[in-house]
Amino acid sequence: MFRTHTCGELRLSDVNTEVILSGWVAGSRDFGSLTFVDLRDRYGITQLAFNEEINKELLLQARELGREYVIQVKGKVAERSNKNTKIPTGDIEIIANEIKVLNVSKIPPFTIEENTDGGEDLRMQYRYLDLRRESVRKKLELRHRVAQFTREYLSKNGFLEVETPVLIKSTPEGARDFVVPSRMNEGEFYALPQSPQTFKQLLMVAGFDKYFQIVKCFRDEDLRADRQPEFTQIDCEMSFVEREDVLQTFEGLVKHLFKEEKGLEITQIPRMSYADAMYNYGSDKPDIRFGMTFHYLDDIAKGKGFGIFDNSQSIIAICAKGAANYTRKQIDELTDYVKRPQIGAKGLIWCRYAEDGLKSSVDKFFSTTDLQKWAEKCSAQVGDLILVLSGDTTATQKQMNELRLYLGTQLGLRDNSVYSPLWVIDFPLLEWDEEAQRFFAMHHPFTSPNPEDISKLDSNPASVNANAYDLVINGVEVGGGSVRIFDKSLQSKMFKILGFTPDEAQKQFGFLMNAFEYGAPPHAGIAFGFDRLCSLFGGSDSIRDYIAFPKNNKGRDMMIDAPSTISQEQLNELSLSITITDKK
Ligand code: ASP
Repeated sequence: MFRTHTCGELRLSDVNTEVILSGWVAGSRDFGSLTFVDLRDRYGITQLAFNEEINKELLLQARELGREYVIQVKGKVAERSNKNTKIPTGDIEIIANEIKVLNVSKIPPFTIEENTDGGEDLRMQYRYLDLRRESVRKKLELRHRVAQFTREYLSKNGFLEVETPVLIKSTPEGARDFVVPSRMNEGEFYALPQSPQTFKQLLMVAGFDKYFQIVKCFRDEDLRADRQPEFTQIDCEMSFVEREDVLQTFEGLVKHLFKEEKGLEITQIPRMSYADAMYNYGSDKPDIRFGMTFHYLDDIAKGKGFGIFDNSQSIIAICAKGAANYTRKQIDELTDYVKRPQIGAKGLIWCRYAEDGLKSSVDKFFSTTDLQKWAEKCSAQVGDLILVLSGDTTATQKQMNELRLYLGTQLGLRDNSVYSPLWVIDFPLLEWDEEAQRFFAMHHPFTSPNPEDISKLDSNPASVNANAYDLVINGVEVGGGSVRIFDKSLQSKMFKILGFTPDEAQKQFGFLMNAFEYGAPPHAGIAFGFDRLCSLFGGSDSIRDYIAFPKNNKGRDMMIDAPSTISQEQLNELSLSITITDKK
């Protein structure tokens, strides 16, 4: 038997018990006649005590133990004289009477402690050592729990977990596919699923009624901190439902997860239309933990001789409560922030509402009475700071969104322990792409138009809203889905609007359209970004921490060193030859 107990288990009530523990040497402290070794496993740390007076030979043996050696120890549980209140086993120690080295270890490249000296790259390369750190392991424990709670809720509500294939045909979700060459079908490729979208719809045609899957998806996109080329979704689909049914069902899931994982009761999740979200927050995923919504000053700030405003499509202001005491330096810093190329504003206008009245950066053009109107429009009071951007409406909304979030963080309004979920609904169905001179589906081509908009599909497709919804939590898009088209002729029309010829549509999606001819039920669904959900629950911005073996921001697995080249033999087998062309 390797162990009778784990390293996180023993308490005062176990004193005098003979035990066997196995684990890793986390560290040791040598006091001459006395040596202490911390033994670590997944469950915690237990102190082992070696005393010269009790067993000199064993003490010498203990001193030889290197960091991360795997050992087995036999001994008796004793009460510690010097208790450690920071760990659950801190009241006891093991008076060892036998050590067995099960395996030795090289000196690890970084210290396996909370405050490790290892940089990100090194920890990624030795991820199996990083995973020995408690905080890292805890994140994966959270992930396990959230997966369990998800399965629990969905199973209880009649959803069946069904696996769908990983080697498939391209699904058009808007991103690039990862492809896999087929040896048996020369010159042909599988694609890895960007999501199981078409399969879950086919499961509805098959009559499965309620499906879910916690599933890996793959998208070959440029990476950011919160993106991974392979990620996990909680993917769901239901039949004989309308939008309201879906929102209710998954509001239930969200509430269940918050209750079980965070002990938080979420009351009703508010809803906001895409149009309102863009108008008031300049984002389709607004962080509603705080206000600071947009105010449009066009009526009151144009025609006063200030050319920049006069030539703008929109003049947008936000009111930063209590920020009138911002120094010139702080305001300059905000100006530099919005002028960064990624944000692209030309400048920032400000107006302070101080004790002694209103003062702005454009006093030359605007009288106190004018500024008073700004203040009224923004519901600003003494002590507040109004910040204004102007220009093309869409661009200005986007810039102001960035500034609002930046200021929200600066003013401490984005507390990670506060959760404000929101449904964003009524997205436009289509997005016009100037470069390609064609429409793209904003969600995906299987999304149904809002029932009342179907008649506008021919006359004014750009004005049609989709029967789609996103779940946003704290400004992060956590999930999204839609009511689907289940009628072949509407689906064909949609493909036509998206620029597919009937032949192309048949070639790419014939399998789905054919299935729609065999009694497809009305259906709808949603998918949640599981890694993202976990990182939100963990109060972190990075999904990488919640993935056991993540890739870096170049899409590389630093540990196994992938991607990598393959042998000529493999290439031959696949009938592939490779020519690398210089993209520059
Ligand atoms: N398949 C969609 C996605 O991955 C979600 C859905 O419509 O259910 O975004």
